[in-house]
Amino acid sequence: MKIYRTHILIAEDSKSILEGANEVKKALVNEIYKKGLQDEISVIPTGSLGFENIGVAMAVYPEGIVYAPVKVEDIPEIVEEHLLKGRIVKRLVKSWEKEEVTVGITRPEYIKGSQYRAVLRNVGMINPESIEEYIANEGYVALEKVLSVKPEDVVNQIKMSELKGRGGAGFPTGLKWEFTAKVKNPEKYIICNADEGEPGTFKDREIMEGDPHTLLEGMVIAGYAVGSRKAYIYIRGEYTLSIDRLEKAINDAKNYGLLGENILGTNFSFDVEIKKGAGAYICGEETALLDSIEGKRGEPRKKPPYPPTSGLWNKPTVINNVETLANIPLIIIKGAEWFKSIGVPGTYGTKLFSLMGDINWKGVIEVPFGTPLSKIVMDIAGGVAGNRKLKAVVLGGVSGSLIVPDEIDTPIDFNSLVRIEAGPGSGSIVVLDDTRCIVDIAKNITYFFKHESCGKCTTCRVGTEAMYKIVDKICRGGGTEKDLDILEKLSKDMQLTSFCGLGQAAPNIIIQSIKKFRDEWLAHIREKKCPTNICKMDWEEEQYEEIG
Ligand code: SF4
Repeated sequence: MKIYRTHILIAEDSKSILEGANEVKKALVNEIYKKGLQDEISVIPTGSLGFENIGVAMAVYPEGIVYAPVKVEDIPEIVEEHLLKGRIVKRLVKSWEKEEVTVGITRPEYIKGSQYRAVLRNVGMINPESIEEYIANEGYVALEKVLSVKPEDVVNQIKMSELKGRGGAGFPTGLKWEFTAKVKNPEKYIICNADEGEPGTFKDREIMEGDPHTLLEGMVIAGYAVGSRKAYIYIRGEYTLSIDRLEKAINDAKNYGLLGENILGTNFSFDVEIKKGAGAYICGEETALLDSIEGKRGEPRKKPPYPPTSGLWNKPTVINNVETLANIPLIIIKGAEWFKSIGVPGTYGTKLFSLMGDINWKGVIEVPFGTPLSKIVMDIAGGVAGNRKLKAVVLGGVSGSLIVPDEIDTPIDFNSLVRIEAGPGSGSIVVLDDTRCIVDIAKNITYFFKHESCGKCTTCRVGTEAMYKIVDKICRGGGTEKDLDILEKLSKDMQLTSFCGLGQAAPNIIIQSIKKFRDEWLAHIREKKCPTNICKMDWEEEQYEEIG
């Protein structure tokens, strides 16, 4: 094996590639060859280095220096000064304004703020396309460990950890596995729900692009625990880099005997197949997802029966989110007690969030459950951009909740959030500053749901359309207070009577925004004025037929 004096990790996640990471890497490799340093310096692609709005980033080891944003024209200087003469190029060093100690299993100094990198421990640290690097970092140790114990012991270990599903509902993972494990059926399935369709959410992508083997290992362990031989990863088709890396990971794992027939020489065989979604938001709903894999139009099914006992082709099926499965190898290696030492009672472990909106640092973070939302927004995300005032936070996606400044100190965990009628949802945090109009935001959200309603039930199909028309009317200065009453009533009816979570959650932000920002709604209605000057008051009568 070749020993290099310097390793350069260059972020090659989908965002960095859009910023020019491939061109920067090519220029770097060329310059290294030009200077005859190819036997001393190794250039390695890796996942995101932590934040997404910093351009192309690279970390130079052993120094642990991060350069960002790096452009092709910066490369000759980096190679000449740093790699040849040992002088750091200070003007390109990425430093954070309020550096705090980062704790975790690994300690990448360049990750900003009080994060705990457990699930993301390998992201930005290893080459996601190298199974050897994953193995060298305790990869597949958990799989080897579980294959030497009984499947029920594995289920018990996950139950003891009290791991809750990270897809939004927070259902106990061990319990879900137990339901499927107990059903006597030779045909069972594991499905990884990687259809990350909630606007503003991209935290699962970070895992799949940066550490695909962690997900695969979690899936194989789940298969062994419940007695399944076959798994599907249902992934949104737009995630092309994730798909490429997962496909390579599957092939490499098969070549290493970690997937396929007789895994690691045991009687256990397990296969994983990728199914690409065509972009329907509803297919993230677990039963619509099952229909889609079966080749049907994706529509939610009546429950019960629930998938753990009757799922794909009516066989027992465990459906877990990407982040949930990525937690499994660490729980097996380090134990349930270790897992429960992170987070807060009732919600253990860490949580990934994608940070977006009017903040200084955007990207994917991992924090222990119980971290106050204010710490995430003001510290890790660097506060509201341009020193503007915080107006609200959309937590957990457009089907999630609207958090106002008075609630910002709430710890992020299931029990605390429920007290303010919120939840971590899809794992997205979108920050809104005081230049945003709440009615305009509501209009965008209602448009999204109108577009994504699958049409199966009347309340949602007709309700989302009506909701959009009313909000549009108010937004454009044509609304009345009666419209606001109708909107509130319609929202409540939809929450109570829609067939699935989409229709039930579609009015969440509308209801909360009317409750928390009533004055702003009334300004649009009574004064025909948008307080932030975003909405154009261009309503003309009889644009829509009477709503009511
Ligand atoms: Fe389809 Fe909406 Fe009804 Fe769900 S609530 S089944 S998305 S129409």
